[in-house]
Amino acid sequence: MSNQGAPQPPPQPNAAGAAARTGTPPVGFGPGSSPLTQIRPQPLSRTSTPSTSAAVASASPAPSDAVPGNSRSPFASQPAPFHPSPSPAPPAPPAQGSQSSSPHPPRPQPPLAGRVTSPLAYTAASPPATNMYGSTMPIQARPPQQQQLYQQPQQQQPQQQQYQQNIGYPTSVPPTSAPQQAWSPPPASVPATAQASGQVYGQATVSSSTSSRRRLYPEQMATAYSSPPQPSSQQLPPHQQQNKQQHQLPPHPQGALPSYSGAPPSSPPGQAATNQNTAGLGGFFVPGAAPPAISQPQTVSGLPPMPPVSGAGIQAAYPAAPMVQQPGYVAPMQPQMGDVTQQFSQMGLGPNPQDYQVSVLGGKPQLSMLNDEPPSIKLPPNTTCVPTSYAICHPSHKRSTLNAVPKTDKLLKKTKLPFGLVITPFKTQQQGDDLIPTVTEIVRCRRCRTYINPFIVFVEGGRRWKCNMCGLSNDVPLYFDYDSATQMQKDRWKRADLNHAVVEFIAPAEYMVRPPMPPVYVFIIDVSYAAVQLGAPEVIGQAILSSLDRIPNSDGRTKVAFIAIDSALHFFQIRADSAEPHQFVINDLDDVFLPAPKDLLLNLSECRAGIEALLSRLGSMFKSNHSVGNALCPAIQSAQKLLGNLGGKVIAMLASPPTVGEGKIELRAEGKDLGTPRESDLLRPQNNWYKNLAAECSRVQIAFDTIFFGQQPMDIATLSGLARHTGGSQFYYPSFMATYKPEVERFTQEFSNHLGAQVGLEAVLRIRASKGLRMTSYYGNFFLRSLDLLALPNVTPNHSYAVEVELEENLTTPVVFFQTALLHTTSYGERRIRVSTLALPTTDNIHTVFHKADQIAIASLLSKKAVDRALVAKLEDAREALQHKALEIIGAFKTECTQSSSGATTQLQIPRTLQLLPFLALASLKHTSLRSGNNVPPAIRMTAINFILTLPAEQGVQPYTVPRLYSLHDLPAEAGYPDEQTGITVLPPSLGLSAEALSPYGMYLLHDGHDIFLWIGREVNPALSQSLFNVHDVRTIPSGGINIPDFSSGSDKPAKGLELNFQVNNIIRRLNDLCHNLWAPVIYVCKEDSDTHLRLMLSQRLLDDMVPGAPSYQQFLNQLRDKINRGSF
Ligand SMILES: [Zn+2]
Repeated sequence: MSNQGAPQPPPQPNAAGAAARTGTPPVGFGPGSSPLTQIRPQPLSRTSTPSTSAAVASASPAPSDAVPGNSRSPFASQPAPFHPSPSPAPPAPPAQGSQSSSPHPPRPQPPLAGRVTSPLAYTAASPPATNMYGSTMPIQARPPQQQQLYQQPQQQQPQQQQYQQNIGYPTSVPPTSAPQQAWSPPPASVPATAQASGQVYGQATVSSSTSSRRRLYPEQMATAYSSPPQPSSQQLPPHQQQNKQQHQLPPHPQGALPSYSGAPPSSPPGQAATNQNTAGLGGFFVPGAAPPAISQPQTVSGLPPMPPVSGAGIQAAYPAAPMVQQPGYVAPMQPQMGDVTQQFSQMGLGPNPQDYQVSVLGGKPQLSMLNDEPPSIKLPPNTTCVPTSYAICHPSHKRSTLNAVPKTDKLLKKTKLPFGLVITPFKTQQQGDDLIPTVTEIVRCRRCRTYINPFIVFVEGGRRWKCNMCGLSNDVPLYFDYDSATQMQKDRWKRADLNHAVVEFIAPAEYMVRPPMPPVYVFIIDVSYAAVQLGAPEVIGQAILSSLDRIPNSDGRTKVAFIAIDSALHFFQIRADSAEPHQFVINDLDDVFLPAPKDLLLNLSECRAGIEALLSRLGSMFKSNHSVGNALCPAIQSAQKLLGNLGGKVIAMLASPPTVGEGKIELRAEGKDLGTPRESDLLRPQNNWYKNLAAECSRVQIAFDTIFFGQQPMDIATLSGLARHTGGSQFYYPSFMATYKPEVERFTQEFSNHLGAQVGLEAVLRIRASKGLRMTSYYGNFFLRSLDLLALPNVTPNHSYAVEVELEENLTTPVVFFQTALLHTTSYGERRIRVSTLALPTTDNIHTVFHKADQIAIASLLSKKAVDRALVAKLEDAREALQHKALEIIGAFKTECTQSSSGATTQLQIPRTLQLLPFLALASLKHTSLRSGNNVPPAIRMTAINFILTLPAEQGVQPYTVPRLYSLHDLPAEAGYPDEQTGITVLPPSLGLSAEALSPYGMYLLHDGHDIFLWIGREVNPALSQSLFNVHDVRTIPSGGINIPDFSSGSDKPAKGLELNFQVNNIIRRLNDLCHNLWAPVIYVCKEDSDTHLRLMLSQRLLDDMVPGAPSYQQFLNQLRDKINRGSF
């Protein structure tokens, strides 16, 4: 605390990331505690009597004054952005739930001929697959896949792999016996028992079907990048052709074809039906399994005609690129003739290798590609059962590194490309997004538990549907075609779950083992001397107070609790009928008890007056506190008792390290080890107390968010385990001082956004894949509960999860599938399952694999793997592994796909779609999370690692790893104003990331998501500062963190003479929107002729340039070429 005691020096923006503030992505909070029906007062009621050690004091307000603390210049320069890092989490606790079989009441028999089996009913012959979803949810049985949290590819039994915490956990999931055989041929005859699962299903509501603005990314877009090596003449893989004969689908009349191939859905009805049939089986028939017994085509009575697809079929639907990047120099192509050309010709690409590969040496990175859509997913015709333009999963939900999957492991290994997905399962709906339709009837494969999706095939005249994952035929529920309530025919082709890749099912009671929990938030607030010196209690109190209305509480069930900590625990009792909080101080921390168990967990609505009183007095209450301890561990244990079995979110806000209890932290000397191999030790927890506790809490649906303030060493590496293993978030504000306004505003805004974010509670995420594919490693913040089940006590919209996939056997189908299902409870108490299904074509052509590789997804996956490795091995190992991977991929391309496969070359040929790969690899190596050198404090690095592990692919790559740079002195007239058509602010063209771009006459803005740098040249035109700051003399603008005033006061037009101010504020708002408002960046004024630290920080973000310890982009390319020429990869 010594540091804290004395006024701190202004934060230094040193390269090390001096103060970086970072926060963990704030996303949904999910505390939830809740009063399940059985609200149980604390299970610990026994200790609830205040003991002698508890002093009861009235929390009466002490006069609150200005926050004590050292004063620091409000403009002190601050430093750098860093980011917390979560690491892969260990297995998570089981969700509550019991397995569900589905006892549906017999349903009224609609007038359909034929026997119908409910897909929800289980029969003896095909028992419900293991239901790992909170045990309530029937889950598919998959072959044992091992989880490798930390990417050790072991072959052990699943159980052995699980963390010990799992052991003994009463998962209600039955041993996956039956399910294991998910892929074995289905029983000869599927008992049609469950016939009566007739529950009265509601009608699917497709709220979004009308939104046609944005389409999934369709095939047509594909051409954007170069001609895809798709054999035109043999588009249909053999399997499909072979299947092309007899299928009969339920007559769907005049259905238009799904138009993956670009075929307009306007085929004549007759033909459409034929195509459909063909497609049907072709796409999903699993060779090897007995051919589906297809009866002769029959017309199912009541099957309405398929709807024609409107317009474009599967059109590209990615939102338009947010900005136009400045076109970089396009290196001249080196014609590669010979066999390559020939191959292209064979592939129907034509002899135009230029479209396929580029030579990158000597050129600038084409950063504009970061705004492009991924390579198109080209599915065989009629892969969907209904012609729909929404069947392709948008990459913001799920993004594959390979949009054409090699059919064999041998081919995959030959390319050296990583195969994996980056999944953002709880992505927030944003402006321009297609709405996610909700469906009230859940239909799943009896055997593998896959949810029905657009890629199933109707067989036997439409009476059964064939699972696209395992091939099993399931009965079509009667309610697909008939509404028993209204006694009207229904149109199955309009079902949302057959038309959309992403849907949300409203889960029935079988998916719950208890009433849905309400949101519950327990705030643990550090009020020790260290925190008081920073003025933290006051700011935190005000921040929570101002965010009370943003906390999800639409149904009035939300609960909150407050525990203040120093060397003791301070509980606050608030009653609904009183606005006067009472404080209990517990000094005896050996056996923590709750002094007033019934009045500590407060209903946010009912106790509002008392809560407001407490928060408004928090600063003054502890203004004179000189206690120097930190009782975080006992506070966490108290929170566990407080939340009991309800679950909830614990938000720990700390300015000092824990000093009491088993989890107390011994501070490690950091300085001398930075930049040495011993630095890696500082990134590992010094004890397992937090990890073990997180595992335990995960089981009872308790998640942790951790927020750190100030520069006092706190061993964030150890404390990170709390958020990492519970799906939580982490933020760090190293420059925090109550008197330093920019950082206070940053914290307040980010915290408020975090509290107000959409939240999913008591969630579990399962990923299913087609036969032959196996998930091997996961990255992100979660607890791995079983082989393919991630436990997320809290899931937030900004968190993504990466998974690596391997081929355990050859793929025999033309298309493979991944389906993720996120079972969660909404903040308003509804149990829902968000399901997304991604279909990817397979190929045996290595050119196609390279051509369809997604460099952003690859960069995201590789960076997540690298930082994960940094946490378990050496930082240097992580850097080398990343660099080596980039080298291997480019080397493999040269060897396998170019003419000069073995000879030395003067160029560096790269597939066009992967041309940014070297740059992105270099960017990761230069990023705070992996940067070499001795100036990155462990806390800053951990924060960065946490962000890399949790950010979605797009945001993690740009702007977080690759910032955006704009010049402000020559903004185009339209920049900073809303686009006339879309209403979205137009961004200026961005510049290459090099100091060459910075003119002394100019003014520039660099944005990396977390921070903004405003670079001002020494000879800048005073008119610019006049128009931006309303200050004529730029010298009067202080360096360091500032707030750019907004002179427009909400108007949609700039004030006269202040146009630049208007434009820049709009541009910044737009940039923050692109980051989902995860961050509220501080703006650092960085002048060309001063601010050494700030200039250093800025230079570290100019990725084209050489910096100490890392080469320039061109040097890096030369290194790669030389190593490849030497064959050293
Ligand atoms: Zn199945």
